[in-house]
Amino acid sequence: MLLKRLEMVGFKSFAERTAVDFVPGVTAVVGPNGSGKSNVTDAVRWVLGEQSAKSLRGGKMEDIIFAGSDSRKPLNFAEVAITLDNEDHFLPIDYNEVCIMRRVYRSGESEYYINKQQCRLKDIVDLLMDSGLGRDSFSIISQGRVDQILNSKPEERRAIFEEAAGVLKYKTRKKKAEVK
Ligand code: ATP
Ligand code: MG
Repeated sequence: MLLKRLEMVGFKSFAERTAVDFVPGVTAVVGPNGSGKSNVTDAVRWVLGEQSAKSLRGGKMEDIIFAGSDSRKPLNFAEVAITLDNEDHFLPIDYNEVCIMRRVYRSGESEYYINKQQCRLKDIVDLLMDSGLGRDSFSIISQGRVDQILNSKPEERRAIFEEAAGVLKYKTRKKKAEVK
């Protein structure tokens, strides 16, 4: 599975539709302080279902919508789409390419789409579970997260290893079965 493309409109500092195409290998995002590098990773986490405004470095979810600048009016919505190559069917879905999109309006509610079909957040969480890509996964380590992991309680740290080992899916299924 490969990250192919990230497209943002109205997300934080990206007022204009901005697309980043990724090629195999390492991609580095460079730029001066405040130019929007971290906003790119925030966009990835947000589209994958992040619900905490704080972890996106804001006070409320509306803060991720472009707030306007000297030369531009604020926008009313933010949209991010991420395209993953799924030729190897790493994600359990019958498509060779998976595009996950999320949109939020100032009124609050988020809309989610998988390959242009509107879906629930749960569908995205289920699709990404144990892929290492989910919203709580270890694939994005933000500033401060390293300390947080080192200082976490053993049970919390265990959850990180469980996600990495891919057993979370089975634990969740077991829990569901037990409830029934
Ligand atoms: P550093 O090198 O300091 O880590 P960075 O390149 O990671 O910087 P970011 O934190 O990604 O920078 O971007 C910060 C910029 O994004 C600030 O200029 C801030 O004003 C802008 N920004 C954040 N949210 C919004 C928003 N909702 N609307 C417009 N601009 C925003
Ligand atoms: Mg930064």
